[in-house]
This record gives sequence, structure tokens and C-alpha cells, in this order.
Amino acid sequence: MRLVQVGLSACLFLCISNMTCMAQLRGERPELIQVTDQVYSAVGYSLGNILYVLTHDSIVVIDTSESPDAAKASLAELRRISQLPISHIIYTHFHGDHINGARSFRSGENSSVAIIAQQEHDRELLMFQKLRPYNARLNAIQFGAALPKRDATLELALDPARPVIGYLRPTEKFESEYKFQQGGVQFELYHTQGETSDHLMVWLPESKVLFPGDLFYHSFPMLSSPMKHDRPVLHWAESLDRMRGLNPEHLVPSHTRPLKGAQHIETVLENYAAAIRFVHDETLSCINLGMSVEQARQAVRLPDHLSNLPYLSELYGKVAWSVNGIYRQYTGWYDMVPAHLNPAPVNSLHQAIAQAAGGAAPLYEQARKAHKQADYQLALELLTIALGAEPKHAPCHRLAAEVLSHLAQRSSNGVEKNVYLVAAQEHQQAAGDSVSSDADEP
Ligand SMILES: [Zn+2]
Repeated sequence: MRLVQVGLSACLFLCISNMTCMAQLRGERPELIQVTDQVYSAVGYSLGNILYVLTHDSIVVIDTSESPDAAKASLAELRRISQLPISHIIYTHFHGDHINGARSFRSGENSSVAIIAQQEHDRELLMFQKLRPYNARLNAIQFGAALPKRDATLELALDPARPVIGYLRPTEKFESEYKFQQGGVQFELYHTQGETSDHLMVWLPESKVLFPGDLFYHSFPMLSSPMKHDRPVLHWAESLDRMRGLNPEHLVPSHTRPLKGAQHIETVLENYAAAIRFVHDETLSCINLGMSVEQARQAVRLPDHLSNLPYLSELYGKVAWSVNGIYRQYTGWYDMVPAHLNPAPVNSLHQAIAQAAGGAAPLYEQARKAHKQADYQLALELLTIALGAEPKHAPCHRLAAEVLSHLAQRSSNGVEKNVYLVAAQEHQQAAGDSVSSDADEP
């Protein structure tokens, strides 16, 4: 048991890779937003919001952020309003940006805090731990760990290389619903899958305040994260319908700012669910029409009345990535192209192409042309072939770094930007060029 506990703690910061966070989603500065007389949302302290419910005799904390320091700072601000002890912590799901600040809420007079999670919490964490080295690599890319701060588009409120572990294990778990009274306030927790399989929402029926966790934030949802396992896409839409059924007057998400007004929230949740179902259903149609996943990515486009909504802009999730994920969930890995049934290592194909082309140089020239015409994707693909054949070709590395920087510049998606920028940095290094760092900042 002890070994498991130690392992869980050690892997926690790696779980942060699941965070639904980026600078645009985080908020410019720390702010404690008053939602109602009893409810506060701490935004901008960290990637994950910290949500507070003040009852008559205690404080209930919903989600704790990724950082014990950020959690402490938000609590210090709340202490200007209330000195009540903390009685409960609720984890909406197991991701690091929701659970790693917990320790800051259980000390001294708060030593007996109840910590509530859905039953799948431990299983999800353990599954994550099994892929620890992989998740470390994923983290470094997704959060641009080696990028200069000025380039970071997804920013943690802690150093991923030296994370402070503040996770505490749940003391209570439930399967489908969990209700309790605290200081005259009724709390209702419901298992609502989507972002994860252990996801829950919190409902305060008297004040009609709903905490959706990561099932809603101001971006198209991350239905399929490029480096993560599948997410229950249709369950996500069902969970949103369930929220609508409660007719909430306040929606207080764990990322981005709260929403208010029953009609507005109803419209937002309806559109969010419609966008998810649209992408899901269209992807299935493409599969049935015999389209490849690349063709499906081109074909599936949200209708204008959805794509123009600010809360469905692709700051975090992307429609095309969702198509990738849904396509794979419903089909096998074989795409019915016989050459792909038992493929050789891709470098041998790259070498054969380069040989046919007359070496890496002609491919480099072709990539330069594509670069000049701003066809950065084609340039990148050509350079990938050239470097597959000649891994030390410095001009190719230099051009690849430039092309990737353009792709990053053109993107408004936080994950995408970091993927491109990290790769650009690696190509610069491979070319033997110096790489800028925070130390170069004025
Ligand atoms: Zn999150």
C-alpha cells in the first residue's frame, strides 16, 4: 500500500499533462470572482481554477489547481472574506490541475478535511502511472517545458521539472451520486463522464449553481488529445444534456470564468453538446462513405452558427483532432491500404524516396519552394523525408525550424503551438545553432 501511495504522489505532476489549460484560458491575473453570496471562483492563480463554497459553518473547496502555492495564494485572498474552517475538498476529476493543490487546504484546524472523488479516481491515476516515462515526454512537449517563457502558450503555475506534490488521497468515493448537507447548504455530486471516466459535477440546488469541472470551458472541447488515450465523446454530450436538465443559473467551470443567467447557460450548453454530436456523427458518416481519416479531417467542419461562437473557438480542442480520435475509436488501426498492414520502418521509405530524387538536396529545394509559397505543411513533410534519409542535413534542420515557427505563429491553439515550437527548437539544436532561452531576455 505504501509503495502505491508513493508511486501515486510521484506521478502526479505527470498527470498535469491532461490539463485543459493555456494562457488564453487561464486569465491574465489572479482574481477571486464572487459568483453569489456563497460561491467564489479563483481564476488566474494557476491553470486550474479553485472554487469555494462558503456554508454557514465551513468552506467546501471544489478543485485545488496544480500548485500548492497557487492554492495557498487564493486561500489567502479568500481569508479576507471568511475565516471559517475547511470541511471538504471535492475533486471533479483526477487530472493534476485539479488535485495537486489539495495539501494547502488540510493543515492545523483543517486536519480532518473530507476529500471526495468518484470511484474511478484511483484506477485512472494508476493507469496514468503505468505510462510514466511516456507521460513525462508528453508533458515536456505539451507544456513547452524547455521553451523560453515568452513563447509559452500553455503555462503551469509550477515548475514541471521540480514539481511540489500537494495531492491528497480521497477519503470518500462514490459510484453514481453523492449528496450531503454542510452548514445549511445541500451538495449534490453526480458522475458525469466526458473529459475523463471519473469525472463528476457538483450541483447546489438551492442557489442553482452548477460546477461542471472540465466538461465546459471557453474553447472547443478537447475530445481527443493528440498524445492521450480516447475520451468518452458521446458521454460528454450526454453529461451536458444532464446539466441542462438542472436549469442552472450559474455555471462555474474549473477553467475560464463563470457564466450566469439560466437562458444564456442553456444556450451555451445546448450549442456545446450540439457541436460534439455534430463532429461525432459527421465522422461516422465519413467512415461509412469509405473516406480516409485525412479526408474526414478535411470534410468535417462545424456549421457557421457553431464555429462562430467564441466559446467554440479552437483554443484548446480542435475539430480535426476530434475527427482523428473518433475515427480511431470506431475503426481498427488498419486503414485498408495493404502497404500499411505490415509497414517497414518509415526511414527505409524515406531513404528510397531520397535516392530516387537524387539525395536530400533536391527534396530540400522542393521544401524551400513550398516554404516560399507559404505551404508550410508540405515543406515540413518534404523535410521529414529528407531528414529521414540524411538525419544530419543541417540546412534541412534550419529550414524545418523556420517552417515550424511559421506553423506555430499561424496557430491559435495552445497545444499545437507548443508542439511546433518544441520541435523547432530541436531542429535548431540539431543544426548546431544556438537556441534562445529566458537568460537571453532583456
Ligand atoms: Zn483541467
